[in-house]
Amino acid sequence: MSYDQSNIFARILRGDLPCKKIAEDQHTLAFEDINPQAPVHILVIPKGSYVDWSDFTCNASVVEQSAFVKMIGHVAGLAGITESGYRVISNSGNDGHQEVPHLHMHILGGGAIGPMVSRC
Ligand code: 5GP
Repeated sequence: MSYDQSNIFARILRGDLPCKKIAEDQHTLAFEDINPQAPVHILVIPKGSYVDWSDFTCNASVVEQSAFVKMIGHVAGLAGITESGYRVISNSGNDGHQEVPHLHMHILGGGAIGPMVSRC
């Protein structure tokens, strides 16, 4: 799947759409989900143009991948959920129910998140 430059997160990265930023570094941006599914619901995205987890792990540099992983732990700390716990999810492709075709990790916490997934 080729990268669609008009997707919502690409527009946020270009500054065409606003977001509630939590943290940012050279390679990564973290911001609040517009439709939170938990008291804390943060999205972490790479600044590079990667469709999903497979694209990112195949094509992103080690520096980008490292920054992305580190940002997840960093924003969990900023949100105050390191001790209480949280869930990290990345939906990928059709079966994964990915809606926005730019890689993102969901960080969900601030309360009990419940069972991991519902059965198909
Ligand atoms: P997916 O289903 O692709 O894993 O998740 C996409 C997420 O992006 C959803 O949780 C949705 O609420 C969030 N989202 C969609 N549009 C926007 C937006 O314009 N701003 C923000 N902050 N989040 C968005």
